[in-house]
Parts: sequence; C-alpha cells; structure tokens
Amino acid sequence: MIARAETDQVTKFYLPAIDSSTHNAMLMLEEKYPGKCMAMMGLHPCSVKADYLKELALVETWLAKRQFPAVGEIGLDYYWDKTFAAEQMDAFKIQMQWALQYKIPVVIHTRNAMAETITAVKEYAHKGLKGIFHCFSGTGKDAEAIIAMGFYLGIGGVLTYKNSGIDKVVENIGIEHLVLETDAPYLSPVPFRGKRNESSYLKYVADKLAAIKNISVDDVAAVTTANAEKIFGM
Ligand SMILES: [Zn+2]
Repeated sequence: MIARAETDQVTKFYLPAIDSSTHNAMLMLEEKYPGKCMAMMGLHPCSVKADYLKELALVETWLAKRQFPAVGEIGLDYYWDKTFAAEQMDAFKIQMQWALQYKIPVVIHTRNAMAETITAVKEYAHKGLKGIFHCFSGTGKDAEAIIAMGFYLGIGGVLTYKNSGIDKVVENIGIEHLVLETDAPYLSPVPFRGKRNESSYLKYVADKLAAIKNISVDDVAAVTTANAEKIFGM
C-alpha cells in the first residue's frame, strides 16, 4: 500500500493514535518507515471509557518521552455512544493543554458534536493552539468558525460522494484552509466507495477538489501539501 501511494506521489503518512491497544502497532509501522510514517499520540474519543485516566497517563508518558508531530486523534464522538460524554470532554481538554505545552498541533475527530467541539477548542485556540478538524463534514457556518480559530479542514473521500453537501461547502472555502486526507481504511472515495480505503486513493479527492475549484491537480497538491507542512512543521 505504501509503495502504491508513493507511485501516486503520496510520500508522507500521518498515523492517528487510537488507544493502548493500537499504539504499539502504530509505532512499529513508524519505525519500519522512518521519515515516511509519522505517529501522532493521543486518546481517541471513541476509546474514552471508565479507564480513560489510565489511558491518558500512557499518552502523557509518550509525549514526554519523544517528539510527536501532533496530538491526535482527540475530540468528541457522540454518534456511537454518549455514556462517557463528560469524560470525553475532560480527555479532550487535557490533551489540548498538552498540545499547547509541547507546542504541537492537534488533529481533531468530531462526530455529532460539532458545536460542543468548536466551543471547547476556542479557549485553547486563543492560547495559540493550531490543528486540523479531520474528515470535516460540517456546514459553511461551522467551517467559518473553524477557520476563524486558525484551524484547517481535513477533506477526504466524502467530498466525492453524491449529495454529501461537502462539495458545496468547500466551494466557498479558500484552498489555503484545506488539507487532504484519506482516513484509510475508512471512507474510500468514489470509485472505491464502500471498499477498503488506502493512501493512493488520495488522488481521487485531489481530482474532485481541483474540479470544484477549477484549478489544476498540481495546484491542489502544491497548496494542500504546503498547508500540511505548515501545520506539522516539517
Ligand atoms: Zn476520526
């Protein structure tokens, strides 16, 4: 998959952390592809359960031990389960504070919780926190609020879906606020919708964005890559 992605000019891979059950596999992948695969560190909102403080302690240990390009994925997910909504908010805020402390950006996951997420981020954005709202799927108003905080919108395969509405939102957003992403293995772009996603499919998202913006794919690649470099400080 990495070879195929490189053939299609995807050369760097930011790996989202989930929880202690996947940290090691992620870090091993990074070790196998130095300079190509970059592990983030964080506790995903879907993994915030009764034991979340223990999970957070592990994240804190890792952040203190070595450099990471970002704290992520962190955020709020009220779609699957709201049992631990309060704990999710607590974990989210704690991890945003760590990102500030280590002067690194955050990669935010938000589902069925956009308003709560934007409100929570605002306080930290005022203190200089930067980052990405990954797999952005909000409204034009949400996008405006996110951009006003200096954050970027992560755009993936959903952009290619008929009736997703994201194409209309993206039409009105400057490309200087966007980064491309796959969310692989999820959210494969058309023509692979419903199949396992992989990084080489990023080109379909880039193609679609180029068509919406009426610019070349090369321009899409150049600007979104520069945005990513700015965020992750490469
Ligand atoms: Zn996510």
